[in-house]
This record gives sequence, C-alpha cells and structure tokens, in this order.
Amino acid sequence: MAEQVLAAVRTGPGKTELREYPMPDIPADAALMRMEVAGICGTDVKLYQHPPSPAPVIMGHENIGTIAKAGREFTQRKGFKEGDLVFVEHYVACGKCEWCHLGQYRHCENTDWRGNPDAIRYGYTSAEKAPHLWGGFAHYVYLPWNSVVHRVPKGVTPELAGLVTPMANGVEWSLFDGGVGYNSTVLIQGPGQQGLSQTVICKQAGAALIIVTGTAKDGARLEVAKALGADHVIDVERENPLERVMAITGGKGVDVALDCASGAGTIPILLGIEALKRKGGVIVVQGEMAEFPNFPLGKMTVKFITVKSARGHSYRACELALEQLASKRFALEKVTTHRFGLKDVDLAIRSVGGKGVKDVIHASLMPWE
Ligand SMILES: [Zn+2]
Ligand SMILES: [Zn+2]
Repeated sequence: MAEQVLAAVRTGPGKTELREYPMPDIPADAALMRMEVAGICGTDVKLYQHPPSPAPVIMGHENIGTIAKAGREFTQRKGFKEGDLVFVEHYVACGKCEWCHLGQYRHCENTDWRGNPDAIRYGYTSAEKAPHLWGGFAHYVYLPWNSVVHRVPKGVTPELAGLVTPMANGVEWSLFDGGVGYNSTVLIQGPGQQGLSQTVICKQAGAALIIVTGTAKDGARLEVAKALGADHVIDVERENPLERVMAITGGKGVDVALDCASGAGTIPILLGIEALKRKGGVIVVQGEMAEFPNFPLGKMTVKFITVKSARGHSYRACELALEQLASKRFALEKVTTHRFGLKDVDLAIRSVGGKGVKDVIHASLMPWE
C-alpha cells in the first residue's frame, strides 16, 4: 500500500489544494477505508465558501468506500471485514452519552462541531488532527472504533450508494419528522438532490399528492421530479405558488410542507405556513438564516402548526434509504448526473452551487478518477 495518501484540502474560503498525508497505522480496533464515492451537497457549498474555522479540512461527508484494512477488534465488534462495500456516516459517536444510547448519535457532543472544538465529523474536522484522514475527498479515510458503518446492499453501485445521505434525510425529515404516510398531501420546496429524494420517499410511503416547487433555472430538475413521482410541479417565478397549491388541493392546503430550498431566505417558510391545511399541519424547516424578522407566529399558532427542525439522519433512516436504493424502484440514475475527480473538487463544489458545470443535480466525487 502507498505510503502517502492524496487528499483535496480546503485551505481557505473557496480554496482547495492537493496535499499528501502519511498512511496511518491501523490499530486493532480501527479500519482504513478506500474511498469510492463522496457525495457533494448544498452543505459543502456553504462550508466551502464560509469555512467555520481557518483550519485545513479534507471535506467530503457523504462517504462510500471499501474496507481496505480492518483491525481484528474492529471486525469482531462491528462485523465488517476487508473488501466490504460500506457507507460511513459523517457523525462519529462517543457511544456513552444519552443521545448515543437513544440511537440519536447525530446529537452527540463528540460530533458537534458547532459547540465542541475537538469534535470529530467527517468533512468538518481539521486535517491537522492525527491521523488526518477525516474527509472523503481523499484516497483513504480513517475509521475509528466509534465510526458508524452501514453495509451497502448487493447490486447497489458505489455511485448509486452515494445518494444514501439525501435519501436518508428524506426518510428522517418527511417520514419521521413530518409524519408523511398513506394518503398524505405534501409540498416539497426545492427540486435539488434533497427535494428529489424527499419526493421518492414520500411516494414510496404512499403520499396521495406531492407538489414540488422550483425556480426558472430548475426546469430540468422539475422534469426529474415528475419522473420520480411528483404529481404537480410549480415554477414559483412564473406562477403564484400559493394560488396553485390551493387550486390543486381544492382550497384545503397540504398536510406537510418540507423546506429543501437553498438560498431562498424566509420565503419557503412563509409559503409553507400559508400552504398548510387549516389546522394541524407540519412544517419541516432548515433554518438557513440566523433571524426571521416579522415571523408570523400568530398565524402559525392559530393554524396549530408543528414546526420540526431538519437535523440529518438516524441509523434507521440510513438503513431504510439503502433498502430503497437496492429496490431499484425509482429511476435514480436521473439524479446522479455528474462525476468529478479529485483534482476537480473546486469545480465540483461550485457546480453543485450552480456556478460551474450546468444542470448538476447530484455530483459524485470519485477520488481515484
Ligand atoms: Zn451533505
Ligand atoms: Zn454520545
């Protein structure tokens, strides 16, 4: 095996450099993963432009790879051996706290980069922290004993498996948080990889009506939304979205509104609150902005709306997402539109942000290409 590991490192806002790190020694309770695909999402776009710290970081938090080396204890404890194709969550749990015992380790302080400077989270943690390989935009990634690893089902290619994170968020936000199920009516705002994944999950769960919104630049994405099961799509720049939702629902509004728009500020939340049914709807929000002047708290209360915060995915959501991918029930190859090599990380992230290659829905970073 090589002595050095090649990685694309974020060295400042909007800046990437290829660097080498020493191949780590793998203790008995750890493993080394050879990267196959790192998915790139809207979070990468934000973290790339506005790094939360000046430290050099190997980004890449949606990681699919093959176990290249596994310590004896790692295999004994976790059941994974060399050659297994796996998905590694970006959360690295402590395994001891109340959140970990609840299985909600995404809330564990050990992986909370906002509050804990020593937190470990793939794609976020400083590359200066030994053994350095904490991100997927690299040839190899280090897996400690407390990494959360899932088996990729047979027949699922690494590229398709690269969709597991948006799909798992789809399960978590629409089903677990939003309560979407049989006969639900749903408004999904934003037809990017996240909104399209929600569409698939809501369809699979039996939603009776799925409406997806986008803007003028989303023409191709809205077509994909229809192909994946959206009953109606709305270009919010050409039509009044609230009027359309009310016309489609016979004036009733929808049961659940999901915010998957990016960079739209308060607009999706205001529309969501208006478009929800008369009483008891659920809105799942992203909270992109720090403040919300004139938030319609009165309307929200009168409509008896429940607000849920979109916060990543749980273990169960990941497993269900992997099963969904394995089912091949939906034409998800329409979502995995682009591949980029390691030297093109900068272009890949910019393209996901709408400023490089055109019409990217989901970008797969293939570090060996
Ligand atoms: Zn992501
Ligand atoms: Zn914990």
